[in-house]
Formats: sequence, structure tokens, C-alpha cells
Amino acid sequence: MAKFCISCGSELPEGAVACPNCGATQNVTPQVQPQVVVNNVQPQVKTNGIGLAGFIVSLVSLLMCCGGLSVVSLVLSIVGLIKSKDYNGNGKGFSIAGIIISIVGIITLITIFFIYVLAYIDGSTNVHY
Ligand SMILES: [Zn+2]
Repeated sequence: MAKFCISCGSELPEGAVACPNCGATQNVTPQVQPQVVVNNVQPQVKTNGIGLAGFIVSLVSLLMCCGGLSVVSLVLSIVGLIKSKDYNGNGKGFSIAGIIISIVGIITLITIFFIYVLAYIDGSTNVHY
């Protein structure tokens, strides 16, 4: 396969870097295109909805003091934390915050529950005293 000078058009010997006729440096077109590893899979900033949901639900749960939601938010947050790996860490902070808030909510719920139970037991024992 003969190549021709990019400058003067004369035939070039095989593998010539410069034209023997005019001396122009030849752009030796690489046979194998240097594969630019197009690993440019757009860094999609996907929102970790589950982690965020867990965080929000845990907050709502704590603020409204309905502890049943804390269990839900704890599950959501844990799932969100696991899923955050798939989201390049997106939502990880929210998930961890959600887990902490959920645990606080559950502890609060248990505490309130025990206070009520103890108060009830205390009250009932007082009655039968
Ligand atoms: Zn030439």
C-alpha cells in the first residue's frame, strides 16, 4: 500500500517518516487508532430516593412522635445505605442520618412505651394495694 507525501504528493517509501522529495514530515497515520478509553459514562448524579425517603420519614416520625414510622424509616434508611453504593455514594449521608434518627425515634418510642407501662403497672398496683 503506497503512501503519498501530504505535502508534495510524491510516492513515499514504506514506513517513511519524512518525504525524501520535499522533506515534509509525514503524519504517519497510526494503523491502530489509540483507543481512548471512553469510559465517559456520564457521572449520572442519580438521586438515592430511598435513602432520602428514609431520612425524611425518620424526621417526620421523630417530630410527630409516631414511632411506627421510625421502624419504616429505619428499614428505608438501611436499604438506602446499601443502595447508596449503586448511586456512587449518593444519599449515604442521608441514609446514615436516617438510621440514627430512626434509632433515636425507636428508643424514644420504647421509652415512652415503658413509661406508660410502668405508670400503668404502678397505677394498677396502687389500686390493688
Ligand atoms: Zn514531499
